[in-house]
Amino acid sequence: MIKINYKILIVLAIVFWTVACTPLKKEVKQIKPNIILILADDAGYADFGFMGSDEIPTPHIDNLAKDGIIFTDAHVSATVCSPSRAGLLTGRYQQQFGHECNIPPHNLGMDITEVTIGDVMKSAGYKTAVFGKWHLGESAPFHPNKRGFDEFWGFLEGHRSYFYGSDNDIPGNPHEIQHNGKHVEFDGYLTDMLGEKTIDFIDQNKKNPFFVFLSFNAVHTPMQARKDVLDKFKDHPRKELAAMTWSMDEAVGKVVARLKAEGLYKNTLIFFLSDNGGAANNQSSCLPLKGWKGNKFEGGHRVPYLVVWPEKLEGGKRYDELTSALDIFATSMAAAGITEASGKPLDGVNLIPHLTGDNSSAPHNQLFWRKEGMAATRENNWKLIRLDNYGYRLYNLEDDLGETLDHSIENKEQFNKMVQSLEHWESNLTEPWWREAKDWNQVTFEIHKALMENREPNYKSPEEMKSYLNQ
Ligand code: CA
Repeated sequence: MIKINYKILIVLAIVFWTVACTPLKKEVKQIKPNIILILADDAGYADFGFMGSDEIPTPHIDNLAKDGIIFTDAHVSATVCSPSRAGLLTGRYQQQFGHECNIPPHNLGMDITEVTIGDVMKSAGYKTAVFGKWHLGESAPFHPNKRGFDEFWGFLEGHRSYFYGSDNDIPGNPHEIQHNGKHVEFDGYLTDMLGEKTIDFIDQNKKNPFFVFLSFNAVHTPMQARKDVLDKFKDHPRKELAAMTWSMDEAVGKVVARLKAEGLYKNTLIFFLSDNGGAANNQSSCLPLKGWKGNKFEGGHRVPYLVVWPEKLEGGKRYDELTSALDIFATSMAAAGITEASGKPLDGVNLIPHLTGDNSSAPHNQLFWRKEGMAATRENNWKLIRLDNYGYRLYNLEDDLGETLDHSIENKEQFNKMVQSLEHWESNLTEPWWREAKDWNQVTFEIHKALMENREPNYKSPEEMKSYLNQ
């Protein structure tokens, strides 16, 4: 009997010693969740393991997805970079404040009367940061530090080299890497750096809630990857894309690992999505969807999308209802316990009750898109596309996800209803503050027309158009 008691005592001592010496920190008890919004750039709907890809490995993001909810019918509000980001950061259709087209000219940017998600989070006591691509205006009034973000380490333009040392890397160039307005020289690969900067920010802000917009430029062109990662994919048919995605996945994995090591993971709300569909020039795949970046077919605006919040949302699920990136603003506010944004009415909704099952209805019955002469709307499974100076198509995605069969004649009632609802939505928009370049409008007209006719476009870029027309 005495022997047994000794054994129990020894076991208890070992258990006590193990618990006392464990290096893992306990989950930090903080009422307000941290929020990390991770945006990929020009990544295709199909090019992640969690979206079913067996060609582009993304083990860390796939692991994250196991703890979260995978959305299959989630959409950004524009099919090109800058307007999509304007919608994302304001929670409002960007055409309401003239941000309809890409690339704000030098002296213009996102309307300064719009309240950003950074403004709202900062007012609620969050430390806020942007790491990476901004693309919402490059002159002083539009700088991230003036739009609600305490920290900015990144670049103001829409693209840049993944390595330091190009002609753009001079102080004052909108493609330069800067830290809160000051020129930065960096070693290594930019995607790695964005992950490291996020980790540094987490380390500095463990004791207060933070909001991070981790805005990768991967996998936007130029197609540049780390040499050691390229070697890993040397026989891959899309080796640059695979290598660039691999580095982004590694960076996400390191950020998540740091959250876990600091005991912050469970109470961090993480969004992961792409800013628009896969591009025609970066080898990405949007299959089985039709179209790609820049057009109004599903491949242009339906994006890979994850929401993870282990403490509040049961993971390992799929969500198939119609949702929008505009919802991220309202969802973040609700998660942080903010009841009023003190801005203009939001177009997105708080997703949390829909994800917990408290609200069984779809967050949206209808979504809209427009960039100058190309517009579209979804109403449940119906999709209407309008191309000015050409015509309309009405598709039923329920049995035609690839948008090939036009129902506008035999479903006249549905067609008329959607034409009217699109026009009604447009009646509340303002004129674009700037326009798309004329040659790009010509290219996108040809792409839409070709896809509406179920044929290959004659050209997909101004360069291809020029050589096609000179044939
Ligand atoms: Ca983009």
